[in-house]
Amino acid sequence: MNTAPLACPVCGLSMHQETSSLKCRSGHAFDLASKGYANLFTDKNRNSQTPGDSRDMVAARRRFLDNGAYGILRQGLADRVRPLAGEMRVLVDAGCGEGAWTLGVWDAVHEAGTSVYGMDISKEAIRYASGRNKEIAWIVASLFHLPIRDGAADCLLNVFAPSSDPEFARVLRKNGMLLTAVPGRTHLWGLKSILYEAPYENDETLPELPSFTLVDVVRLEGCLQLKGQETLQDLLSMTPYFWRSPKAGIERYAKLDTLETPIEFLIALHRRK
Ligand SMILES: [Zn+2]
Repeated sequence: MNTAPLACPVCGLSMHQETSSLKCRSGHAFDLASKGYANLFTDKNRNSQTPGDSRDMVAARRRFLDNGAYGILRQGLADRVRPLAGEMRVLVDAGCGEGAWTLGVWDAVHEAGTSVYGMDISKEAIRYASGRNKEIAWIVASLFHLPIRDGAADCLLNVFAPSSDPEFARVLRKNGMLLTAVPGRTHLWGLKSILYEAPYENDETLPELPSFTLVDVVRLEGCLQLKGQETLQDLLSMTPYFWRSPKAGIERYAKLDTLETPIEFLIALHRRK
């Protein structure tokens, strides 16, 4: 693991690797798991027993995304970073989940020599991700408290995860890049029109990022045709509608065998001021 950009999550000093642990200069030590990932999530940021997504949610999203369902987004992110790879020594996927987007971006930049880090608060997600690509440095960490030195990152990826303007601005160098992705207007309209009597379109609100300048926005559109109730349930459990939908809508959805729905994403490129 390239430890140069890393900062100790306890004291902020730089870190180095010794056989099976990461250590800082004041002696804080963090074991590397046998699968190669590091856990730099500290108790001071802990607010529940198992923070982040549960094992079931990770498994559902993994089954769904591994089938290539959101392939246009993975490809879109890779296409967006590829021409910029020469500017990126360090790329961090902040809130990487089980790594679906991290892997796509790694494909696009690793030949340029970029070090890629995938960070997520869910240990389940990182454990799974670490079995998928050993060249990526996988780290359990909070994206509100990234174990990265000030200004040590050239690019951050923040896809369907919470955003933190002050933390992202802290870890990115001046003019560093931040790629965010949000659902487009018609994203999952087919799903929503089963769940709700009168669904609303998404409002396409980009995250509030006062420390950044918006450079451009790319729109990606596609269509999903899903078969089988298990796949349909996997999709539902990945969305906020899983928690919020009316009971009648959930029951209607549970009777379906197929679902056709548009999918739509916006990828926004921002530069740190
Ligand atoms: Zn330390």
